[in-house]
Amino acid sequence: MITVENLHRHFGGFHAVDGASLTIAEGSITGLIGPNGAGKSTLFNVIAGRLPPTSGRVLMDGEDVTGLPPHELFKKGLLRTFQIAHEFPSMTVRENLMMVPPAQSGETLWNAWFGRRAIRDEEAKLLARADEVLDFLTISHLRDEKAGNLSGGQKKLLELGRTMMVDAKIVFLDEVGAGVNRTLLNTIGDAITRLNKERGYTFCVIEHDMDFIGKLCDPVIVMAEGKVLAEGEAAHIMENEAVIEAYLGT
Ligand code: ADP
Ligand code: MG
Repeated sequence: MITVENLHRHFGGFHAVDGASLTIAEGSITGLIGPNGAGKSTLFNVIAGRLPPTSGRVLMDGEDVTGLPPHELFKKGLLRTFQIAHEFPSMTVRENLMMVPPAQSGETLWNAWFGRRAIRDEEAKLLARADEVLDFLTISHLRDEKAGNLSGGQKKLLELGRTMMVDAKIVFLDEVGAGVNRTLLNTIGDAITRLNKERGYTFCVIEHDMDFIGKLCDPVIVMAEGKVLAEGEAAHIMENEAVIEAYLGT
C-alpha cells in the first residue's frame, strides 16, 4: 500500500532520514522501532506530507504522493497521529472528534455548526459517528469531559478515535503507547486490532514497548541512524545482531 523509495531528509548537514526504503503491505499492522533519534518520526512526517523530503519517493497504491500536503493525503485515506497528542484542550472529547473535517463535502465544520438545515443533517451524522467511536473505544463515559483533563493515555485513545471519524485506509501512529498505563495500552491494542480486522485499516505503529509491538505487529521494521536496518517478525528481529548493536548504541 505504501512504498518508500530511498528517502532522505536532511536538516542542514544532519541526515535524519538517510536513504530509507520500505514497504507497508495492505492489511498489515507494521511496527516501526528503533533507538531515539533513528529518524522514525521524521519518516512519518515526510510520508504524511508535513515535511518535504530532501530526495526519494513515497508511493501510495502505486501512485507517487511525494510531497503532497496532509489534507490531500487525508482525502486519500492516509492519516497520522502525533508523538505528542494534538487535542483541543478546552473542547469536550466529543467535540474534538467532531472537529475532524468531513471528507466528502467541501463544508467546514464551522459551517456545519452555524449553517442551514441541510448542513444540520451533516452535524447529526457527525454526532452519531462520534458516539459510535466513543463506544468502540470504550470511553463513552468521557464524552463530555474537556479533552485537556484527559490522562496521557486517554489522549492517545482520542487521537486514535479521530482517525475513525473518516474512512481511513492507512493510519500512522507515533508512539501510541508513550506514557500510557498497561490497561489503557491493552485497550489501544484491542482497538487497533479490531480496526484492522473489522474495518480493514492498515497501520504503521511506532512504539518502544516491545511486548506491545510483539503482540500487535507483523512485520516489524527496525530503523537506526536514518536507515532501515532489518525487517521481519518481532521475535526474530530482536535476535538480529545489527539490531542488538543499534540498541546498545555501539
Ligand atoms: P525518532 O522519532 O526515531 O526518535 P526523529 O525523527 O524525531 O527520531 O529525529 C531524528 C533526528 O533528526 C534526531 O537527531 C533529531 O534531533 C533530528 N531532527 C528531527 N527534526 C528536526 C528538525 N526539525 N530540525 C533539526 N533536526 C531535527
Ligand atoms: Mg519520534
